Amino acid sequence: MIQGKRAIVTGSTSGIGLGIAQRLAAGGASVMLNGFGEKDEIKTIQQDLEAQYGVNVAYHSADVSKAEDIADLVKEANHQFGGIDILVNNAGIQFTSPIIDFPVERWDAIIAINLNAAFHTMRLCLPSMEERGWGRIINIASAHGLVASVDKSAYVAAKHGVMGLTKVAALEHASSGITINAVCPGWVLTPLVEAQIKAKAERSGLQYHEAKAELLSEKQPSGEFVTPDQIAGIVHFLCSEDANQINGTAISADGGWTAQ
Ligand code: NAD
Repeated sequence: MIQGKRAIVTGSTSGIGLGIAQRLAAGGASVMLNGFGEKDEIKTIQQDLEAQYGVNVAYHSADVSKAEDIADLVKEANHQFGGIDILVNNAGIQFTSPIIDFPVERWDAIIAINLNAAFHTMRLCLPSMEERGWGRIINIASAHGLVASVDKSAYVAAKHGVMGLTKVAALEHASSGITINAVCPGWVLTPLVEAQIKAKAERSGLQYHEAKAELLSEKQPSGEFVTPDQIAGIVHFLCSEDANQINGTAISADGGWTAQ
C-alpha cells in the first residue's frame, strides 16, 4: 500500500520518528526526514535508508515551532517528490514543572512544537491530498493525550489538543479518501524519556536503572517499554487498506496505562 507513496515525518532524526521513517522507507515510500542533530549523522541515516531500500530519502532542517519553516518543509517535499501522500506529525518536546513555576517560554515552545506544528503541516498538506483523493495523516499524540499527570501541563494540554485537532480534521475530510488518526504511546525509551529518568534519579537519589523501573511501575502495567518499531508498525497499519475506515480516532500502545 505504501510502495511509491511520499511521506513527511517530522522529528525523524531520533527515537520514534526515526523508527517510523525507517518503516515507511522499508515499505517503499520516499521519506522527507526532519529534525535536529549532527549533520553527518543525519546524512548517514539518509544514505543508509536509500541504499537499503532503494527509495528517495531527503532531509529538511525546519524548526517546526516556526510556521514559515514548516511552509518551506512542505514546499521542498512537494518539489523533491512531486507530492505528499503520508504526513506523520511526530516532532515533540517535554518539560516538567508545576504550573505556578512553569517557564512561559517552555509553555510556548511545547504548544508550538507539539500542537501548532500539526495544524500548519495539515493545513498545507491537505489540499493536494484532497485533489488526489488519498492521504494518510498520523499524529503521534501520547497517553497524555488521553489522561493527565502532574507537572506536565503544557505537554498534556498540547497532546489533548492534538486529539481534538485529529477529530476535527478527520470529520472535515471524511469522504475524501483521507484518514487522520492519532497514535498514543505510553513510555518509549527514547532520548525524551531518558532525560526524565535521569531527572528522576537525580531528584530521588536512585540509580539510573532503579529510576527507570520506578518510572515504568508508576504508569505502565506491562512493566515494559513500548519500542519505536512497534509505533512504526501501527503507523504502517494505518496507511494500509485495512485501515481505510479507521478515522478520527486514537490507537493506544501503552502497556495498559490508560486502562487504569
Ligand atoms: P526524541 O527526543 O527522541 O525525538 C524528538 C524528535 O523531534 C527529534 O528528531 C528532534 O530533533 C525533533 N524535534 C524536536 N524539536 C523540534 C523542532 N522544533 N523542530 C523540528 N524537530 C524537532 O523523542 P521521542 O520520544 O521519539 O518523541 C517523538 C514523539 O513521540 C513526540 O511527539 C513525543 O511527545 C511522542 N511520545 C513519546 C513518548 C515516549 O515515551 N518517548 C510517549 C508518548 C509520546
